[in-house]
Amino acid sequence: MTAVSWLDGRWLTHRQARVSVDDRAFLFADGVYEVVSVYRGQFVDADLHLARLRRSLAGLSMRLPLSQAALSVLARELIRRNAIAHGMLYLQVTRGAAPRWHGFPDPAVKSTLLLTAKHLPAPSAIPRRSDHIKTTNDLRWGRCDWKTTGLLANCLALQGALDDGFDGPWLVAGDPDDKQTVVREGASSNAWIITQDGVLVTHPESPQILGGCTRAAILQIASDLQIQSEERTFTIGEALTAREAFNSSSSSYLRPVLSLNGTAIGNGTIGPVTRRLHEAFVARLERGVGLSAGLV
Ligand code: PLP
Repeated sequence: MTAVSWLDGRWLTHRQARVSVDDRAFLFADGVYEVVSVYRGQFVDADLHLARLRRSLAGLSMRLPLSQAALSVLARELIRRNAIAHGMLYLQVTRGAAPRWHGFPDPAVKSTLLLTAKHLPAPSAIPRRSDHIKTTNDLRWGRCDWKTTGLLANCLALQGALDDGFDGPWLVAGDPDDKQTVVREGASSNAWIITQDGVLVTHPESPQILGGCTRAAILQIASDLQIQSEERTFTIGEALTAREAFNSSSSSYLRPVLSLNGTAIGNGTIGPVTRRLHEAFVARLERGVGLSAGLV
């Protein structure tokens, strides 16, 4: 089936979709995006994604180029046209195409709006994949809480980890070999540990991390399951002595982290708390909690 995308007011086959060489996202990474998971043809936690999209746009002094209701209609139509049962919606808004100059163009310049969709396998009750992680100095800017398309430092961190034979990086606030260094998050995921006392820990929301929608859902699920959680920083040393660790994101929900810098976390297999939280995450979707047919 040919993938169909929405670009600037038109449905196009994905291969036909083209943006201007003057688009500010191409020239300056001057744009924001969202990735919303689709489960049985419905959007997962759409309200959280829309709220974050609004925060990211506001951070860049940009506005949604259409109403939320109109965006929702487009998103539904995209899922229908691409016959997505399980997968994701990718949505990007840029400041549009204008002659190259660092200052913002005339507000009359039309933003670029792109919507694409992708099929993914249905999530299984037990995570399908797990990761061996390497710590990498976080080289990103000071507003990682805005979901902008400026992802070069994330790409470099991921590629560096892959080149060294790992599955991904944890971005850390300084020397990646110092056990006192604070762990921030993954290249495209939030990072979690379960301490020896069974407490679930993840970095607090701050400009240094992206506040994940999956992260928010997991904190709620943990509370429902009466698993104690703490939003606080943790160090590489604490992660190395943790019982379990995992990453979270809209595209893979919970993904166990089995080792850090070559040292097994816990006994190096998927731990019981990670398993329980993942099962509960999928069960929540099965019950239809957090699902909506549109984005509003
Ligand atoms: N942190 C970063 C840097 C990300 O890019 C992402 C997702 O792309 C996340 C965290 C997880 O966010 P979410 O759960 O909303 O997908």
